[in-house]
Amino acid sequence: MRTFVALPLPDAIRDQVEQLQDGLRAGRAVAWDNLHLTLAFLDDQPVDRLEALHEALERLRPAPLELRLAGLEVYGAKKPSAVVLRAEGGAALTGLQANVMQAARMAGMDLPRRRFRPHVTIARFNAGSRGTEDAARIGAFLQARGDWATAPFEVDAYCLYASHLMRDGPWYEELGRYELASSHVA
Ligand code: ATP
Ligand code: MG
Repeated sequence: MRTFVALPLPDAIRDQVEQLQDGLRAGRAVAWDNLHLTLAFLDDQPVDRLEALHEALERLRPAPLELRLAGLEVYGAKKPSAVVLRAEGGAALTGLQANVMQAARMAGMDLPRRRFRPHVTIARFNAGSRGTEDAARIGAFLQARGDWATAPFEVDAYCLYASHLMRDGPWYEELGRYELASSHVA
């Protein structure tokens, strides 16, 4: 099963991102339902390891997490592969990501060591896309909206997802949900 661990975004933030996406007339916009911040891409994993990870994540007690999305970036050196929003979440975010990676490795998953670059992908580009036209549109979009940012917002949970790649785009199935503490006193 193709799986990953990610933070879903609050509906109000996704509404803001959707408005931003409307201005980019290139690539495939990520669907509102699918907007997320990946903490760990696990790829194909057997069910027993996923169960071990699920149990470990249920035992984690992560700190409250406040995020802010600020600044656009293009991934892909020669050809664009994605347009993303950079995410800021301080030590709470880097700590959560490190703990999720450690839990996955303890569950027997062999994951590559890569620097964590927290981001939310807003559009993707096919390998065979119309290069120069897309590049011009992306350039204009970054010029116009490069300083786009949200106010800080709180995230209340992160999730383990199975990714089912369908013809009309991926479907992320929630396999597990793990609450984050709130910084607000009820
Ligand atoms: P599609 O591949 O059909 O465009 P998708 O990228 O949303 O859809 P997945 O490829 O299953 O769906 O990826 C799920 C999440 O994991 C996404 O956030 C994606 O960016 C991330 N991801 C996918 N492959 C990798 C990888 N090799 N390394 C790091 N993150 C990855
Ligand atoms: Mg993908």
